[in-house]
Amino acid sequence: MQTITLKSGDKVPVLGLGTWHMGERRSERAGEVAAIRLALDLGLTLIDTAEMYGDGGAEEVIAEAIADRRDGLFIVSKVYPHNASRTGAIAACERSLKRLRTERIDLYLLHWRGSVPLAETVEAFERLKKDGKIRNWGVSNFDTRDTTELAGVSEGGHCASNQVLYHLGSRGIEWQLLGTCQKARVMVMAYSPLGQGPLLRKAALKKVADRHRADPAAVALAWVLRQPGVVAIPKAVRPEHVRANISALDVKLDAEDLKALDAAFPPPQREMPMDMT
Ligand code: NAP
Repeated sequence: MQTITLKSGDKVPVLGLGTWHMGERRSERAGEVAAIRLALDLGLTLIDTAEMYGDGGAEEVIAEAIADRRDGLFIVSKVYPHNASRTGAIAACERSLKRLRTERIDLYLLHWRGSVPLAETVEAFERLKKDGKIRNWGVSNFDTRDTTELAGVSEGGHCASNQVLYHLGSRGIEWQLLGTCQKARVMVMAYSPLGQGPLLRKAALKKVADRHRADPAAVALAWVLRQPGVVAIPKAVRPEHVRANISALDVKLDAEDLKALDAAFPPPQREMPMDMT
C-alpha cells in the first residue's frame, strides 16, 4: 500500500480503520474485534482511536484484536482537550497505553482545541516522545489559524499530522488548510471520509462507481486519497463494509470521474468555518 513519510521518518499507510462508536456496548464487542482482525488480515495496519471513544472502550477492543500482532501496526490515539495539560496529557497517555496493552502509541493527537495553552500540550507531547511512549504527535480539528499559531509555539513545528473532517460532501479544507498542511509536511488524516454513510447513496457517486464496477464507498475513499499527503480512516464493523473500503485501493479515478464528482459536490468558493460533523 502507498505510504506517507512523516517528519520522523515513520511511514503511514494511506488507508486505515476508524473506531468511533466501538467499545460502547458489550454485546457488540465480538463483532468489533472480528472487524479489526479482518481489516488486519486484509492488509490494513493503521488504526485510529481516542480516549473518548466508548470512554476508553474502543482502545480496549483494539487491545483484544491486536493482542498477538502488535508489530508492524501504526496506532493513533487522541487526548481530550481538558486532559491536555503539562501533566494531564502524560497521565491520559499512560491510561491509553494501559487500555491498548501496548508500550507506545505511534501518533498521539490533541482531539480538538481547548483552553489549555498549546505550549503546555506541546511540552507534554515532547516529553512523551522523549520517554518513548509516543513516536509522533499531532492535532485534530485545527483550522488554518490554529495551525499557524501552533507553528509559532516552541517545538510546534514537530507536529506530524492534523486530523480533520474531509469527504466529498465537505470540502472546506481544500480552500487553504489542505495546502498549508501539505507545505508544512503535516499529514492530513481525513475523518468521516464516507460522510458517516448517507453520502454513499448520492446518485452522482453511484454513477461513477458503476462506471468502475466498484462500491460507492471505494470511490468516495479513492477520491479522498487522490490528494497527496492525505490518509483516510473509514470506520466499519460489518465485514462487507471492511472489504468494500479496502477495495478503494484498486480504484483509479480519471479526469472525467473527477469532473462529474466536482459538478455534484462542488469545491469551496470561499473560506468556510471548520466543519466538524
Ligand atoms: P465514516 O467512516 O465516514 O462512516 C462510518 C459509517 O459508515 C459506519 O456507520 C459504517 O457502518 C458505515 N460504513 C463503513 N463502510 C461502509 C461501506 N463500505 N458501505 C456503507 N456503509 C459503510 O465516519 P466516522 O466513523 O465518523 O469517521 C471515521 C473515523 O474517523 C472514526 O471512526 C474515528 O476513528 C475518526 N473520527 C475522528 C474525529 C475527530 O474529531 N478527530 C471525528 C469523527 C471521526 P458499520 O460500522 O456498521 O460497518
